Parts: sequence; C-alpha cells; structure tokens
Amino acid sequence: MRIIIAGAGPAGSLLACYLVRRGHHVAVYERRPDPRGHDDEEGRSINLGLSARGVRALTDVGLMPAIWPLTVPMRGRAVHAPDGRVTFQPYGRRADEILHSVRRRDLVVSLVDHAEAAGAVFHFGHRVVDLDREGPTLVVEHEGRRDAVPADAVVGADGAFSAVRALMHRGLRADLHQEFLPWGYKELTIPRVPAHHEALHVWPGGDDGLIVTHPNLDGSMTATLFLPAGRLAEMTDPEAFFAERFPDALPLMPDLAKEFADRPVGHLVSIRTTPWHDGGKVVLIGDAAHAVYPFYGQGMNSALEDCTVLDRCLGLGSLDGDHLGLAFAEFERSRRPHTDVLDELSRQNFVELRDRVRSPLHKVRQRADLVLAGLFPGRWTPLYTMISHTTTPYADALARSRRQDAVLRWTALGAAGLGAVAMLAARKGR
Ligand SMILES: Cc1cc2nc3c(=O)[nH]c(=O)nc-3n(C[C@H](O)[C@H](O)[C@H](O)COP(=O)(O)OP(=O)(O)OC[C@H]3O[C@@H](n4cnc5c(N)ncnc54)[C@H](O)[C@@H]3O)c2cc1C
Repeated sequence: MRIIIAGAGPAGSLLACYLVRRGHHVAVYERRPDPRGHDDEEGRSINLGLSARGVRALTDVGLMPAIWPLTVPMRGRAVHAPDGRVTFQPYGRRADEILHSVRRRDLVVSLVDHAEAAGAVFHFGHRVVDLDREGPTLVVEHEGRRDAVPADAVVGADGAFSAVRALMHRGLRADLHQEFLPWGYKELTIPRVPAHHEALHVWPGGDDGLIVTHPNLDGSMTATLFLPAGRLAEMTDPEAFFAERFPDALPLMPDLAKEFADRPVGHLVSIRTTPWHDGGKVVLIGDAAHAVYPFYGQGMNSALEDCTVLDRCLGLGSLDGDHLGLAFAEFERSRRPHTDVLDELSRQNFVELRDRVRSPLHKVRQRADLVLAGLFPGRWTPLYTMISHTTTPYADALARSRRQDAVLRWTALGAAGLGAVAMLAARKGR
C-alpha cells in the first residue's frame, strides 16, 4: 500500500520504519528542513528523556544499538534545596531502572537514516495544507507550489497542532480538548555541572518556577526553566530573578542573559481528542492524537509506543477490504484509555516536581516504595517505576498502583488498630 505520513518527528519517522518493514511504500512529508543539514531546534525541547517504552519501540526496529552511544544515562533526580544542598533520589532499585537523555535531533536523524535506508522516501520543506479524506489525497506546499499526493492511507504524525487532525475532523462529530498550561518554558545552557552529571537536576521553586535539566554527551546540560508564561515573556533581568530564586543555579549559567533574550518562550499544551481515525483512510499518532504536559517525561515515549501498538494492530487479520479501517479502529480502542491516563498523570507530576519533590513526606513515601519493592519483588512496584521503567499499559499501571495504595492504607490502619488494642489490654492488665 502507499502510505503517506505527515511529520518526521519521533513518531512519524519511527512509524516509517515499521511500515516499510511491513512492505508498504512510505512517503513522509515534513514542513521543516532536513535535520541532517540543519541544527535549528526553533526553541523546541533540545533533549528528551528516553525510557523503557521508547527503548522497546526503538529496539523493535533494531535501532537501539545505534542510539545507545547518543545517550547519557540519568540514574535519578538531583534535587536542589534553596540553601544549595543537593539530594540524590535514585529512579529505581535496579541498575537498569534509569532514564536516558538524548538530543531530539540525534534521535530523529537516526530514525530518518534508518527508514530511508529501508526504502521510505522523505520530503523535507513540504507543509501539509489540505486533505481530501475520500481519496485520501494529501495536499502539500513546497517553495510556493502545491502538489496533491494520492495514497491508500494518510497518517497524521504532525504534532500537537496537527494540520491533518484539523482537516480530518472537518465535518465530523469530533471532540477536541486543548488546554494550555498557564506556565511556559525557556531552554538555557549549563556548560558544566559540578556533581551528578548522570542525573536529572531539579530546582523545585513552588510558585516561583521550576528548573529541570537533562545532561548532554559533551558534559553540558540543557536546563528548562518553567514559569508562568506571562512572567517569562515580561522578564527583563533574568540574572536578578535567578539571584533571588535560584541562587545556586546562577553561577552555572554564564550565558544566562544572552540566552534568555535570544530564546523564545515555549508553550505547553495538552490535547485529548476523538476520533483518532477516519475509517481506513486517515489515522493520527503521537502528539497529534494525545499531547501531554512534559512533567512525566512520557510524551515522546508514548508517541514511540504508539507506533508499536499501531504496528501490532496492522498485524491483526488479513490485508483485505477494510483491513486498515479495522486496524485503525482497534488502535484507537485499545490505546486511547491509556493515553488519557497519561494526560492525568502528567498534570499531577507538574505539582509533584514543582512542590513536592523536596518535602520530607515525599522522600519518606519514595523510600518506602523502594523498600516495599525490595521486600516484595514483582508484587510491589511503585507507579513511577511502572510508568518509566516498564511497558505496563498506563491505565493498568495506575489501577495497580491504586490497589497497592489501598493495601498500604489498610495495613497501616490494621497496624494502628492492633497497637491501640495492645495498649488498652496492657492498661487493663495493670
Ligand atoms: C519542554 C519539553 C520537554 C519534553 N521532555 C520530554 C521528555 O523528557 N521525554 C519525553 O518522552 N517527551 C518529552 N517531551 C514531549 C515530546 O517532545 C513530544 O511528545 C514528542 O516530540 C512527540 O513526537 P511527535 O512525533 O508526535 O510530534 P512532534 O515531535 O511535534 O513532531 C511533529 C513533526 O511534524 C511536523 N509538522 C507539523 N505540522 C506540519 C505540517 N503542516 N506539515 C508537515 N509537517 C508538519 C513538525 O515540524 C514536526 O517535525 C517534552 C516536550 C517539551 C515541550
């Protein structure tokens, strides 16, 4: 079949690898220039945390051996307190329960190279401007010219503000919930960190901001400052702001003033939508179908996992008549409940990172989780571990974590009750 993918981000370029492997003719249309000739991130997330779901999807198409050398392990969070003290919170109990920082561009270039070598054709600098769903035919614009490209199916992998989604939904009874977080972000550089390079550094500042950093291969770190978007846009003296709110981060950023002035404010959006497909003609994946706030570090990982799930759905049944329609419907049916849960978890983790990571209660809970995981291996798995270090579907992970929490609550209540009874008995005996 001739399948056209709109968007050569992580989802579109990985799906190209999967579809070529299934024997389809794949063409990818991407509005931006070829990343192999450009290093222009346009202020979008420079590096990303790759976790188990992404690793599994990339392993599935045989790409991880090429990706590993491009990653830096993140073994836990290094949490910075206002007095400059740093506490390290490991991500898991086992050595392999870690995240991997990778530059978005390096990842996409590897994927594009791999898909191209397998037979996919990439057209960079081509923007999707129209879609005839019936064909389907995609209309792309390139250097002022419009071309109509017919296909058997079109995949919208064109991100949170997907043109394919809007064009596919035209005239359908479609739901779209789009919500901007009042906070935006700016990316800044830390040329070198004094300690804990293999960690995700966090400066939780409550209402006064949040800094999260990812390590790079050259020893530097990319820091993302999150703050209410209005304050970010209006700030004229970032050095004074850092001196007051994040004094220990200020000396780590020698180019702060210039970078702050040069870099755009990024916006954070959550998207929930349905339908994800129109019969067997058009389907959405990745951020085009479900964008989340970045605080669980799962947006790209879930986009890559989408490709694995869609590929599995395409493998069900035979390639006859409405095979694609059934596969796309099964993809949405089986996947959307899980990405809806991820949306919820990503919202909650914003509060956790911003406010809770340095609270003593949070630390006790985190330690208790790891101790219980050690005492009952396979029977007790913290939610964070299930989301980040396993491929347990998101909603299943949340349901299991709630069951574990209920057991913990009842056990604590039971223990407290037994203690009270023992005390009463002791008093009576006196
Ligand atoms: C600050 C920040 C930090 C993040 N950190 C993490 C993290 O640590 N871990 C993680 O898993 N996720 C993270 N994410 C989320 C992650 O970046 C996204 O979920 C991921 O990029 C989604 O991939 P995608 O391929 O679906 O969409 P995108 O990456 O948005 O790719 C879409 C592609 O489509 C192209 N396109 C758009 N419109 C058109 C058009 N009309 N015609 C043709 N092409 C078009 C775009 O140019 C782009 O190349 C973060 C996001 C942000 C904002």
